[in-house]
Amino acid sequence: MGIIRVNEIYYSIQGEGNAIGQPTVFLRLFACDLRCSWCDTMYAVEGTDFKEMPHEEILSEISKYNCKNVCITGGEPLIQRKELVPFSEKLIKEGYFIVLETSGHKKPPEVFTGPSCLISMDCKCPSSGMEKRMDFTLFEQLGAKDQLKFVIKDSTDYEYAKSILEEHNIGCSLIFQTVYGEDITWLAESVLRDKLNNVRVLPQLHKIIWGEKKGV
Ligand code: SF4
Repeated sequence: MGIIRVNEIYYSIQGEGNAIGQPTVFLRLFACDLRCSWCDTMYAVEGTDFKEMPHEEILSEISKYNCKNVCITGGEPLIQRKELVPFSEKLIKEGYFIVLETSGHKKPPEVFTGPSCLISMDCKCPSSGMEKRMDFTLFEQLGAKDQLKFVIKDSTDYEYAKSILEEHNIGCSLIFQTVYGEDITWLAESVLRDKLNNVRVLPQLHKIIWGEKKGV
């Protein structure tokens, strides 16, 4: 029986990316091999705050919310790739739509490339301290239905994100999102000034609604 390390399961509003505002069940998996300086989910990165759950128990927990949108997040979900693939196949078979949140350093398995999934990949910019871990070839493999998200703290991050877009052939949706608490006005104005017309500037909606809390 497949076992997955789960940090939390909860029902909330999708706060990021193209599905922003949509009611969603969040499945937060435990552990991450990156250490971003501004990580807001360290409780799912290290420590002991996880439960080892069989697939059927997770499915049953998710089904209680009567919502077919599931966001698999972390931590870094692809650390548990071996178990996550058959589990995600079960979710898709039961009619769920999956958003997979992952960092740009692990190749998403094929199951997430189909029409029932959206890959939401992060490009870690210099303020994270993790930019050297990124694999830019993964960005170029994202499909039109997917999204690449740059979490931007300052002008160094912004210029870095711009250079990635100039240097790589990326065909998915592009999101520029501020680190929580940073000014979004300069980011919006910079995108307009530079005419980055294929970029979407977004806040983290759930934090505007509820603040920086666990489980929302
Ligand atoms: S990849 Fe995500 S979970 Fe991992 S350290 Fe960075 S922000 Fe935190």
